[in-house]
Amino acid sequence: MEDVRAVRKGDRNTQQTASQPMRYVRAPFWSKVGTGDSDACWPWLAGRVGSGYGTCGPGIYAHRVAYEISVGPIPDGLTIDHLCSNRICCNPSHLEPVTREENARRGEKNRRTRSGGRSLASRTECKNGHAYVEGSFRWSGTARVCRQCARDRRRTFRERTGR
Ligand SMILES: [Zn+2]
Ligand SMILES: [Zn+2]
Repeated sequence: MEDVRAVRKGDRNTQQTASQPMRYVRAPFWSKVGTGDSDACWPWLAGRVGSGYGTCGPGIYAHRVAYEISVGPIPDGLTIDHLCSNRICCNPSHLEPVTREENARRGEKNRRTRSGGRSLASRTECKNGHAYVEGSFRWSGTARVCRQCARDRRRTFRERTGR
């Protein structure tokens, strides 16, 4: 009995010393993002702060990391605006570097109209030119996902894989 307990205790200790503090940006970043359709919001799945932004370390915002590793460095003095108004989103196509003044202006406009006003919400067609009409898209947060594009992607996938 004593021996078993000693072994168990030993196992626990080993596990504790083996577990390392989270390695922020160097850890496989995208494994912590709910990636999906290119138009959809990709939520950060790990920590978030009270303001609703995803964080991957103290003062390190997940959406900024997403932008920098997929697009490039954020120019000095610019802040990242979420075109989808979804602060947890890490989809680079929903992120746009803007000045703080522009960001504040968009924020005010957005608060007045709730979902309207911002560029994603006011688009009338997808990036491939399919019109956004009733039933032609589905919502992902405040972003819209084009159904025709989704169908096209599935067909391309079937043709490529022969299935
Ligand atoms: Zn988004
Ligand atoms: Zn489309």
